[in-house]
Amino acid sequence: MKDQIEDIATDLEQEVIDFTREIISIPSVTGNEGPVIKRIQKEMKKIGYKSIQIDDMGNLVGRIGSGENLIAIDGHVDTVEIGEKTSWKHDPFDGKLEDDIIYGRGACDQKGGVASVLYAGKILKEIGVPEKTTLLVVCSVQEEIYEGLNWQYIITENKVIPDAVILSEPSNLNIAIGHRGRVDIKVRTTGISSHGAAPELGDNAIYKIAPIVLDIIRMDSELNVDPIFGKGNVCVTDIRSTSPSINATADSSTIHIDRRLTSKDSEESVLNEIKALESVKRTNAEVYIPEHKYQSKSGSIYSVKGYYPSWYMEESHPLVQTASRAYEIQFNKDPVLNYWRFSTNGAATKGIFNIPTIGFGPGNEKFAHTIEDQVPVEHLVKAMAFYTQFVRLWGRGN
Ligand SMILES: [Zn+2]
Repeated sequence: MKDQIEDIATDLEQEVIDFTREIISIPSVTGNEGPVIKRIQKEMKKIGYKSIQIDDMGNLVGRIGSGENLIAIDGHVDTVEIGEKTSWKHDPFDGKLEDDIIYGRGACDQKGGVASVLYAGKILKEIGVPEKTTLLVVCSVQEEIYEGLNWQYIITENKVIPDAVILSEPSNLNIAIGHRGRVDIKVRTTGISSHGAAPELGDNAIYKIAPIVLDIIRMDSELNVDPIFGKGNVCVTDIRSTSPSINATADSSTIHIDRRLTSKDSEESVLNEIKALESVKRTNAEVYIPEHKYQSKSGSIYSVKGYYPSWYMEESHPLVQTASRAYEIQFNKDPVLNYWRFSTNGAATKGIFNIPTIGFGPGNEKFAHTIEDQVPVEHLVKAMAFYTQFVRLWGRGN
């Protein structure tokens, strides 16, 4: 079976190259995924996926097989912006193929992964999905800004709850078993505005936020090192203020803090850390996690808290074991198990809903979000073979 999978994956090489290049050529910055989702939907139909649906948020799902054991492989279709186009060596929307590497925005993060998953479904159609198993391919939206929001929608609104999830984000063909979490935190000070010619009559909110910023800088260097994820991070990523004019002192000032979480940190613990700062207490600053709002296609408004939990899987878990076995069978060597540095939809699937989750995808994450965004053809073919072998083994074991 290993050879049969490898042979079919190799036969599909040209198709997966063409499809990866084509979806790279369809821009899909977060919030504008419609056209690429439509194109992938068309390909799903051609391959023979069943129950193909686009939900109200814009996520596309399709199924191969009809067993009750549901294994989901997720790939987000949105990308970050291209930045300054002239700084790209290869046109970001050309999907240029050069020396067996495909270049362009989203090649690595993560249209190569989406294409590999889609065609793994084609191999499974040919060799057969285990009887009790269904492969659910999910092409999710809005991941680059609100990772996991899509899965919160899929689970709570669509009521789809898989038994296990594989994320096809770039892992350099290693098996990712977790990552640090993230919390968005706002700190807001208020003051009293006065004329810039008489600042002593007011109470400048910027002067109150300034010592808090300095405390956050210090806090980052003092964070504990975690045995699983290493050190957390805290940094100020935005600062703004309000005042009636630039000739008046500020009556409010707000900073945004990006806090990366280790396995020991929780939503409460990191909020309390900041609330306990002397500068925060002295100024009576408000510390809170903002709610993000988004509108679905039918106009409903959903809101979600800016909290993306860290997660990890024990190496002894059956999902990790099955993935490792699939890797060994398909590639004749032991896999590397590691943690992603970035956050993914796993923040929801494992972090919030505790569904067993791992990551495996083509492309080296170091090229994600860069002007050298790229994915090797060899990775696409290997990822297709891995997903196929995994679904077979998982289906047999359950
Ligand atoms: Zn990604």
